[in-house]
Amino acid sequence: MAETAKDTIYDVAIIGGGPAGYTAAIRAGQYGLKTALIEKDDKLGGTCLHWGCIPTKSLLFDAEVYDHFKHAKEYGIDVSGEVKVNWPTVLQRKNDIITKHVKGLNFLMKKNKVTTITGYGKLTGPAIEGVLTVEVENGGKHQSVKTKNILLATGSDAKMLPGLTPDDRILTNIEMLAIPEIPKSMIVIGAGAVGVEFGSIFNSFGSEITIVEYLPRLVPVEDEEISKELNRIFRKRGIDINVGAKFEKVDKTDTGVTVTYTTSDGKQVVKEAEKVLIAVGRGPRTEGIGLDKTKIKTERGFIPVDQWQQTVEPGVYAIGDIVAGLPQLAHVGAMAGMVAVAKIAGKYSRPIRRNRIPGCTYTEPQIGSVGLTEAAAKEAGHDVKVGKFPFTANSKASIVGSHDGFIKVVADKKYGEILGVHIIGPQATELIAESVVALEMEATVEDLMFTIHAHPTLSEGMLDAFGSVEGMAINA
Ligand SMILES: Cc1cc2nc3c(=O)[nH]c(=O)nc-3n(C[C@H](O)[C@H](O)[C@H](O)COP(=O)(O)OP(=O)(O)OC[C@H]3O[C@@H](n4cnc5c(N)ncnc54)[C@H](O)[C@@H]3O)c2cc1C
Repeated sequence: MAETAKDTIYDVAIIGGGPAGYTAAIRAGQYGLKTALIEKDDKLGGTCLHWGCIPTKSLLFDAEVYDHFKHAKEYGIDVSGEVKVNWPTVLQRKNDIITKHVKGLNFLMKKNKVTTITGYGKLTGPAIEGVLTVEVENGGKHQSVKTKNILLATGSDAKMLPGLTPDDRILTNIEMLAIPEIPKSMIVIGAGAVGVEFGSIFNSFGSEITIVEYLPRLVPVEDEEISKELNRIFRKRGIDINVGAKFEKVDKTDTGVTVTYTTSDGKQVVKEAEKVLIAVGRGPRTEGIGLDKTKIKTERGFIPVDQWQQTVEPGVYAIGDIVAGLPQLAHVGAMAGMVAVAKIAGKYSRPIRRNRIPGCTYTEPQIGSVGLTEAAAKEAGHDVKVGKFPFTANSKASIVGSHDGFIKVVADKKYGEILGVHIIGPQATELIAESVVALEMEATVEDLMFTIHAHPTLSEGMLDAFGSVEGMAINA
């Protein structure tokens, strides 16, 4: 535990060293603010680096490589002998990537003169003469950290279904990422990003996957047509999908679990599997951090903030997964941290705009989206024009052997303002970046129709998708 000299007063103290907290710390250091980063665990990185974004994408990459090997013959590559997954190596590679990036974070803290303090941080009450105090506890030792501003960045935990506790068969993302063997079968409860990503990855690795989702479609936050396409492709891959289905209970058997659920047409099903993954959302970690000593009142556990991430308690900000009304994504938390710190430093800052946030789901095929869905645009009163371009008509998609999916553009009829872009298909999570910039710059469909895209690329599909809004895609 780094000790802070009694008379040190930081400009900013950040509680929580996940992507929201560590990004804010680095940026604060870059502005020359005296900064402390308080993290309860012995490693920086939070859910994202240890149990979320990074490890899942490492597994996803391995799953993709394995999928390519399955199709090697089609590509003209003869692989002699059986292609097998070496699961311990897959896990080791994932762990090595995490270790490398933990080291990188430690380096960045030093580089930006951020003091890192290991311990559990708690608010102690309002500022006294402009100075706030964080009480930090580590192994029974206490220290008080004095600061002019506090950023709360304590993150979230996987929600559990009532009566269930995670173990070797009932899994959350944490157990899932350390599973000793590839399960023969797995039932996934919840079809948000986490559920469908794990379903997709383990389907590639050969597990028999069943998805049970209460809402009427997969990835319910996405445009309806995206959900439909994912459903079609997942079924083609042999995934058993049950949407509009009500989870009833999990029972343990000698070898695994049975999950009881009622399908959308009222049939009760008892399905057996080796494992069940509970992926029903994430709850904010806002208990036990001293909010009761402040004016802050949570909304279903989440902290309300203004456009600069400021809470109602003077000098206290909140960023990341604990914030009310923003999606729980690493890049949103990181940007919230940068917005808050810029405001504290008195530098140029710009609030996060809800409709400019890319959402990415790393399934096979991937999903990338930004802005309004077609339904939301209509609901908001826009006279909507839609263009859609299928990857079957893109030459690079043929080259990489990935024809499923499409790019959908939602635009306003009057001036051609781009309202939303929704992609399902190869590299969708990379392709979406262009549309985020387009929305940020308030570009029109015509602006994009005259923007040169290299040939042959997947991003050329974007040019065709924007053209298709005017019925003028070149390749379809
Ligand atoms: C399986 C999975 C896959 C995901 N994939 C993606 C993805 O691909 N892309 C994406 O954008 N998002 C993804 N996410 C979401 C992403 O992980 C979170 O949005 C992100 O980690 C939130 O960042 P955060 O800093 O708010 O919180 P966290 O990452 O949860 O970090 C909070 C930190 O605060 C510490 N802490 C908590 N309380 C205290 C305290 N009182 N004192 C000191 N320290 C404390 C914790 O130990 C932790 O290190 C995924 C999530 C999961 C579960």
